[in-house]
Amino acid sequence: MGRLADTVWIVDQAKSLGFELCGVARAERFPELHQTSEWLARGYAGEMKYLADPRRSDPRSVLPGIQSVIVCLLNYNTAQPLSAAPSVLGADGEPRGWISRYAWGDDYHEVLRGRLDGLVEYLRERFAEPFEARAYVDTGPIQERVLAKYAGLGWLGKNTLLLNQMLGSFFFLGVILTTLDLEPTLGANELPPPDLCGSCRRCLDACPTQAFVEPYVMDARKCISYLTIELRGPIPEEYREAIGNHVFGCDICQDVCPWNRRAPVATILQFQPKLFSSLEENPAGTSLPSQDESLFLPRLEWLAGLNESDFHELFRGSPIKRTKWRGLIRNTCIALGNSGVRRGTASHVRINALLERLAGSREQVIAESARWALSRIQ
Ligand code: SF4
Ligand code: SF4
Repeated sequence: MGRLADTVWIVDQAKSLGFELCGVARAERFPELHQTSEWLARGYAGEMKYLADPRRSDPRSVLPGIQSVIVCLLNYNTAQPLSAAPSVLGADGEPRGWISRYAWGDDYHEVLRGRLDGLVEYLRERFAEPFEARAYVDTGPIQERVLAKYAGLGWLGKNTLLLNQMLGSFFFLGVILTTLDLEPTLGANELPPPDLCGSCRRCLDACPTQAFVEPYVMDARKCISYLTIELRGPIPEEYREAIGNHVFGCDICQDVCPWNRRAPVATILQFQPKLFSSLEENPAGTSLPSQDESLFLPRLEWLAGLNESDFHELFRGSPIKRTKWRGLIRNTCIALGNSGVRRGTASHVRINALLERLAGSREQVIAESARWALSRIQ
């Protein structure tokens, strides 16, 4: 077994790299890791076939000779209001969409990966013996949340996310699997942090699509994050109205959580909402600077008007690229159909024309969503 001093040193190095928290766990088959088979058998994973990878139930099957797991936590909370706050809708009456808070800034995979690679370099300087270390940010066959719990970083809440008493749940997790034999953060007789959800059920009651089958169990097929990001085909009609103005992900079950009420704000610039200066064509055919477009409450009209090359240009370094252009425009059509844009307004005229153009798209999923939206606003 490694020395406690090494673990303390690793945590300090992680903090020097900007991580808020870091913990070490033994590489073991923790109980929650193999409880997913029933969840999968019920079909709750939908099209996310990668979740059925059997290696996910045991980190020892991912890296030969693995002994320890280092889990690092990076806060992405920003000062903008929560989606559940009444003040979030723009005062200008423009229909606006909601993008999940984690996706407002730069691609977190790259932000975390750079820091984890830095930590691996530190490990190589400290430990003379040969060892393997593999860093993952949402990319490996591992269940980061469970490993984080056993590294002492929090508990798994009724909304299925990792919650930390001081930080809430707006954070990313990065993991280093290693063959180094490290002393775990939790002592031999120490349990992971207790579940502090108590009798609260705010997340369960607030979910617009009723995605929680029971506390701690989510049917991902009903979750707006799945429907707007992972699902490639048309969004099932039964969920379209409940999706509201969500165009990429959903934060509601985090936004209503009391543990996020006082969650500290991250200072890291890379997670602040991206701003884009757009150019608009005036009637004379010359381009004029227009308003800045933000990923915090983006104008739906702006999103719906993006063509495929705009999408690639704007979202190259953003998590939003995951849904692809087709998916984002599909989602924006659904949100426009839910926008209640008032007939007789200039916005209505422009949005109607935009949707009619999209209804003729060669992408069936876009065309069908646009027709649905038109049927709701005309
Ligand atoms: S992210 Fe939204 S849709 Fe998904 S479970 Fe949470 S509240 Fe429900
Ligand atoms: S909203 Fe309540 S029940 Fe849900 S995760 Fe937060 S504390 Fe737990």
